[in-house]
Amino acid sequence: MGLRPVGIDTMDWPALQAAVAGCEACSLCRSRKNTVFGVGDTQADWMVIGEAPGENEDLQGEPFVGAAGQLLDNMLRAVGRSRSGSGEQGAYIANVLKCRPPANRNPQPQEVAQCEPYLARQVALVQPKVIIAMGRFAVQSLLQTSEPIGRLRGQVHRYQGVPVIVTYHPAYLLRTPGDKGKAWADLCLAMETVAAE
Ligand code: SF4
Repeated sequence: MGLRPVGIDTMDWPALQAAVAGCEACSLCRSRKNTVFGVGDTQADWMVIGEAPGENEDLQGEPFVGAAGQLLDNMLRAVGRSRSGSGEQGAYIANVLKCRPPANRNPQPQEVAQCEPYLARQVALVQPKVIIAMGRFAVQSLLQTSEPIGRLRGQVHRYQGVPVIVTYHPAYLLRTPGDKGKAWADLCLAMETVAAE
Protein backbone atom coordinates (compact mmCIF):
# COMPACT_ATOMS: atom_id res chain seq x y z
CA MET A 1 0.00 0.00 0.00
CA GLY A 2 1.04 3.57 -0.55
CA LEU A 3 0.67 6.70 1.48
CA ARG A 4 -2.31 9.00 1.33
CA PRO A 5 -1.46 12.23 -0.51
CA VAL A 6 -0.62 15.25 1.64
CA GLY A 7 -2.60 18.47 1.49
CA ILE A 8 -6.05 16.96 1.01
CA ASP A 9 -7.57 19.71 3.12
CA THR A 10 -6.58 22.35 0.58
CA MET A 11 -7.25 20.43 -2.66
CA ASP A 12 -9.66 21.70 -5.31
CA TRP A 13 -12.13 19.33 -6.98
CA PRO A 14 -9.86 18.09 -9.81
CA ALA A 15 -6.96 17.48 -7.43
CA LEU A 16 -9.19 15.72 -4.93
CA GLN A 17 -10.74 13.49 -7.57
CA ALA A 18 -7.32 12.60 -8.95
CA ALA A 19 -6.05 11.84 -5.46
CA VAL A 20 -8.92 9.43 -4.81
CA ALA A 21 -8.53 7.80 -8.24
CA GLY A 22 -4.90 7.00 -7.47
CA CYS A 23 -5.28 6.29 -3.76
CA GLU A 24 -3.62 3.20 -2.34
CA ALA A 25 -3.81 4.19 1.31
CA CYS A 26 -5.72 1.13 2.47
CA SER A 27 -6.08 -2.47 1.37
CA LEU A 28 -9.36 -1.83 -0.46
CA CYS A 29 -7.33 -0.46 -3.36
CA ARG A 30 -6.33 -4.02 -4.23
CA SER A 31 -9.82 -5.38 -4.82
CA ARG A 32 -11.64 -2.35 -6.26
CA LYS A 33 -12.50 -2.11 -9.94
CA ASN A 34 -13.17 1.62 -9.73
CA THR A 35 -13.00 4.28 -7.08
CA VAL A 36 -16.40 5.86 -6.40
CA PHE A 37 -15.80 9.54 -5.83
CA GLY A 38 -19.22 11.17 -5.78
CA VAL A 39 -21.87 12.57 -8.10
CA GLY A 40 -24.13 15.59 -8.32
CA ASP A 41 -23.94 19.35 -8.14
CA THR A 42 -20.87 20.43 -6.20
CA GLN A 43 -22.80 23.51 -5.06
CA ALA A 44 -25.99 21.72 -4.04
CA ASP A 45 -27.41 22.61 -0.66
CA TRP A 46 -28.19 18.95 0.15
CA MET A 47 -25.46 16.35 0.53
CA VAL A 48 -26.29 12.66 0.84
CA ILE A 49 -23.68 10.41 2.46
CA GLY A 50 -23.84 6.64 2.38
CA GLU A 51 -21.59 3.84 3.50
CA ALA A 52 -19.42 2.40 0.76
CA PRO A 53 -19.70 1.24 -2.83
CA GLY A 54 -21.41 -2.08 -3.49
CA GLU A 55 -20.90 -4.30 -6.49
CA ASN A 56 -22.79 -2.13 -8.99
CA GLU A 57 -21.20 1.06 -7.71
CA ASP A 58 -17.76 -0.50 -7.98
CA LEU A 59 -18.46 -1.51 -11.59
CA GLN A 60 -19.94 1.84 -12.61
CA GLY A 61 -17.84 4.19 -10.47
CA GLU A 62 -20.95 6.01 -9.21
CA PRO A 63 -22.59 5.95 -5.76
CA PHE A 64 -26.14 4.68 -5.18
CA VAL A 65 -26.89 2.85 -8.42
CA GLY A 66 -29.13 -0.21 -8.85
CA ALA A 67 -32.38 -0.66 -6.92
CA ALA A 68 -31.20 1.25 -3.83
CA GLY A 69 -30.04 4.09 -6.06
CA GLN A 70 -33.43 4.23 -7.78
CA LEU A 71 -35.14 4.44 -4.42
CA LEU A 72 -32.80 7.25 -3.39
CA ASP A 73 -33.60 9.07 -6.64
CA ASN A 74 -37.32 8.67 -5.90
CA MET A 75 -36.82 9.98 -2.36
CA LEU A 76 -34.94 12.99 -3.70
CA ARG A 77 -37.60 13.59 -6.36
CA ALA A 78 -40.23 13.65 -3.62
CA VAL A 79 -38.49 16.68 -2.14
CA GLY A 80 -37.88 18.35 -5.50
CA ARG A 81 -34.27 17.29 -5.92
CA SER A 82 -32.17 15.05 -8.12
CA ARG A 83 -28.56 14.06 -8.62
CA SER A 84 -28.62 15.90 -11.95
CA GLY A 85 -30.22 19.05 -10.53
CA SER A 86 -28.36 22.06 -9.23
CA GLY A 87 -28.52 24.40 -6.27
CA GLU A 88 -31.85 24.11 -4.48
CA GLN A 89 -32.93 21.33 -6.87
CA GLY A 90 -29.71 19.38 -6.59
CA ALA A 91 -27.93 16.99 -4.30
CA TYR A 92 -24.32 15.91 -4.04
CA ILE A 93 -23.99 12.20 -3.25
CA ALA A 94 -20.94 10.48 -1.81
CA ASN A 95 -19.92 7.62 0.45
CA VAL A 96 -17.75 7.44 3.54
CA LEU A 97 -15.51 4.94 1.73
CA LYS A 98 -14.49 5.45 -1.89
CA CYS A 99 -13.62 1.80 -2.59
CA ARG A 100 -15.76 -1.33 -2.25
CA PRO A 101 -15.09 -3.64 0.69
CA PRO A 102 -14.76 -7.21 -0.65
CA ALA A 103 -18.05 -9.12 -0.62
CA ASN A 104 -19.67 -6.01 0.88
CA ARG A 105 -18.22 -6.72 4.31
CA ASN A 106 -18.36 -3.99 6.93
CA PRO A 107 -15.67 -1.33 6.57
CA GLN A 108 -12.79 -1.59 9.01
CA PRO A 109 -11.94 1.33 11.33
CA GLN A 110 -8.51 1.83 9.76
CA GLU A 111 -10.09 2.01 6.29
CA VAL A 112 -12.48 4.68 7.49
CA ALA A 113 -9.64 6.58 9.14
CA GLN A 114 -7.63 6.55 5.93
CA CYS A 115 -10.54 7.59 3.72
CA GLU A 116 -12.28 10.14 5.93
CA PRO A 117 -10.14 13.15 4.88
CA TYR A 118 -11.47 12.83 1.32
CA LEU A 119 -15.06 13.04 2.53
CA ALA A 120 -14.20 15.86 4.90
CA ARG A 121 -12.77 17.83 1.97
CA GLN A 122 -15.83 17.08 -0.17
CA VAL A 123 -18.05 18.49 2.58
CA ALA A 124 -15.81 21.55 2.92
CA LEU A 125 -15.95 22.17 -0.84
CA VAL A 126 -19.70 21.60 -1.27
CA GLN A 127 -20.59 23.57 1.87
CA PRO A 128 -24.07 22.01 1.99
CA LYS A 129 -26.84 23.41 4.13
CA VAL A 130 -27.71 19.91 5.30
CA ILE A 131 -26.21 16.42 5.22
CA ILE A 132 -28.46 13.37 5.01
CA ALA A 133 -26.55 10.48 6.56
CA MET A 134 -27.97 7.18 5.29
CA GLY A 135 -27.54 3.90 7.09
CA ARG A 136 -25.97 2.79 10.35
CA PHE A 137 -22.40 2.77 9.17
CA ALA A 138 -22.40 6.23 7.58
CA VAL A 139 -24.25 7.68 10.54
CA GLN A 140 -21.96 6.18 13.14
CA SER A 141 -18.83 7.14 11.19
CA LEU A 142 -19.89 10.75 10.68
CA LEU A 143 -21.16 11.28 14.20
CA GLN A 144 -18.47 9.22 15.95
CA THR A 145 -21.04 7.23 17.89
CA SER A 146 -22.17 3.64 18.36
CA GLU A 147 -25.79 4.60 19.00
CA PRO A 148 -28.35 2.90 16.72
CA ILE A 149 -30.14 4.91 14.04
CA GLY A 150 -33.43 4.66 15.91
CA ARG A 151 -31.97 6.69 18.77
CA LEU A 152 -30.36 9.30 16.51
CA ARG A 153 -33.26 10.02 14.17
CA GLY A 154 -35.41 13.08 14.72
CA GLN A 155 -32.57 15.30 15.93
CA VAL A 156 -30.23 17.72 14.17
CA HIS A 157 -26.62 16.61 14.61
CA ARG A 158 -23.50 18.36 13.25
CA TYR A 159 -20.52 17.40 11.09
CA GLN A 160 -17.98 20.16 10.44
CA GLY A 161 -20.67 22.54 11.63
CA VAL A 162 -23.14 21.35 8.97
CA PRO A 163 -26.52 20.06 10.19
CA VAL A 164 -26.79 16.27 9.85
CA ILE A 165 -30.09 14.41 9.58
CA VAL A 166 -29.98 10.68 10.22
CA THR A 167 -32.08 8.24 8.23
CA TYR A 168 -32.21 4.69 6.92
CA HIS A 169 -30.24 3.44 3.93
CA PRO A 170 -32.38 2.88 0.83
CA ALA A 171 -31.18 -0.75 0.69
CA TYR A 172 -32.65 -1.23 4.18
CA LEU A 173 -35.90 0.45 3.12
CA LEU A 174 -36.19 -1.98 0.20
CA ARG A 175 -36.03 -4.83 2.72
CA THR A 176 -38.20 -3.04 5.30
CA PRO A 177 -40.76 -0.93 3.39
CA GLY A 178 -42.73 -0.39 6.59
CA ASP A 179 -40.06 2.12 7.65
CA LYS A 180 -40.45 4.30 4.54
CA GLY A 181 -42.74 6.61 6.50
CA LYS A 182 -39.95 7.25 8.99
CA ALA A 183 -37.56 8.06 6.14
CA TRP A 184 -40.09 10.53 4.77
CA ALA A 185 -40.28 12.18 8.17
CA ASP A 186 -36.47 12.43 8.15
CA LEU A 187 -36.51 14.13 4.73
CA CYS A 188 -39.13 16.55 6.01
CA LEU A 189 -36.88 17.35 8.97
CA ALA A 190 -34.04 18.01 6.51
CA MET A 191 -36.24 20.43 4.55
CA GLU A 192 -37.25 22.20 7.76
CA THR A 193 -33.62 22.39 8.84
CA VAL A 194 -32.51 24.01 5.57
CA ALA A 195 -35.39 26.48 5.79
CA ALA A 196 -34.43 27.35 9.37
CA GLU A 197 -30.73 27.78 8.53
S1 SF4 B 1 -11.05 3.24 0.48
FE1 SF4 B 1 -10.32 5.36 0.59
S2 SF4 B 1 -8.34 5.25 1.69
FE2 SF4 B 1 -8.85 3.15 0.96
S3 SF4 B 1 -7.81 2.99 -1.05
FE3 SF4 B 1 -9.92 3.64 -1.43
S4 SF4 B 1 -9.79 5.91 -1.54
FE4 SF4 B 1 -7.91 5.18 -0.53
